Amino acid sequence: MVDIVLLGPPGAGKGTQAKLLQEWLGIPQISTGDLFRAHISQGTELGRLAKEYIDRGDLVPDEVTVRMVEERISQPDCARGAIFDGFPRTVAQAEALDTLLAKRKRRIDIVLYIQVSEEELLRRLEGRWICSQCGAVYHRVYHPEKVPGICDRCGGKLYQREDDTPETQKRRIQVYEEQTAPLIAYY
Ligand code: ADP
Ligand code: ZN
Repeated sequence: MVDIVLLGPPGAGKGTQAKLLQEWLGIPQISTGDLFRAHISQGTELGRLAKEYIDRGDLVPDEVTVRMVEERISQPDCARGAIFDGFPRTVAQAEALDTLLAKRKRRIDIVLYIQVSEEELLRRLEGRWICSQCGAVYHRVYHPEKVPGICDRCGGKLYQREDDTPETQKRRIQVYEEQTAPLIAYY
């Protein structure tokens, strides 16, 4: 049983490390970004609401985000722990997560903080391509796929995220500094 939080700015590599940990530990990755994107592509009401915030590079309201995470950790595959990727992103979310876990007699065991300079973050975000099927992350220069446009792992098509534009990238880094960085002290 282990509950892990991956903390760090957008583009730091949380998703990449979370996927490795998921394979090594056999515990699921819970990426709130991926959950929101799944809602958007399925056209749910939650997806429509979240898209407005995501397109601007702002955070989706805490209440909506926490409810979605609670639903996810209630599923049986999360009974032995989870790897939280991109959540919590505010102190209020961190407090809510503590409460959710406490109800299940669990707590955050490990927080991994990934520190990367802003210059490097922008380089990473700018070249980022993602598999539409399995969510694997590639980079034009640092980690290119073998067959152009096709995922090495599952053969899915790669795409660039709509919110990976230069303006939203800068905004997301700013939001991180303002709202998420305080979690370093929290943990
Ligand atoms: P990145 O790692 O590039 O920041 P994510 O996939 O984690 O990308 O998140 C994409 C967007 O989804 C965020 O910019 C934000 O709008 C929304 N989002 C993801 N996780 C959260 C969260 N925990 N709270 C609020 N909004 C979130
Ligand atoms: Zn794939």
